[in-house]
Amino acid sequence: MQLTKLEIKGFKSFGDKITIHFNEGVTAIVGPNGCGKSNVVDAIRWVLGEQSTRMLRSEKMENIIFNGTKSRKAANLAEVSLSFDNTKNILPTEFSQVTITRKLYRSGESEYRLNDVKCRLKDITDLFLDTGIGSDSYSIIELKMIDEIINNKENSRRNLFEEASGISKYKVRKKQTLNKLKDTESDLARVDDLLFEIE
Ligand code: ATP
Repeated sequence: MQLTKLEIKGFKSFGDKITIHFNEGVTAIVGPNGCGKSNVVDAIRWVLGEQSTRMLRSEKMENIIFNGTKSRKAANLAEVSLSFDNTKNILPTEFSQVTITRKLYRSGESEYRLNDVKCRLKDITDLFLDTGIGSDSYSIIELKMIDEIINNKENSRRNLFEEASGISKYKVRKKQTLNKLKDTESDLARVDDLLFEIE
């Protein structure tokens, strides 16, 4: 599966819309310190559903919206879209071209889109589960993560193999099902209480 395009507008240092096309082979982003190279990676993490402000190197989520400069007004909306070529059907969807979009307004309102149709964050995370892409997968590796994998901090080496072998989606589904069972059990207990009161 090939990343084809990244569009960023109003996100961190990118006040104007920028489009990065990923052609075949390796794409390298070069520039002087502080010019926004890491912000490109943050934009990819963010559109994939990253919820941790720490991972986005920001104190508050609102801070990822372009803050303006001396000569430019701050933006009211951050918007990032990431496109994939899915002709090999690696993503479980009928679309051969997939674009995911995330928006955040200064009011706090946010939105996810899948091929321009509004969706939930869960739809995005489910789409990428076990594909190796995703906000908590290993497609974006920082130096700190390499240290963690080498030192096997918090079982990180096992997690890496689980993601690579495609079993994480079953673990996530198991956790969701167990939570539902727990909710159902407490609903049943409540019904028993009510029945007891009525009788
Ligand atoms: P380095 O090579 O040092 O890692 P870099 O090229 O990766 O740097 P980044 O860390 O991606 O640079 O970008 C930092 C720049 O982004 C800083 O100039 C910072 O002021 C700017 N920046 C971050 N958030 C915002 C924001 N919300 N609005 C405007 N500019 C921002």
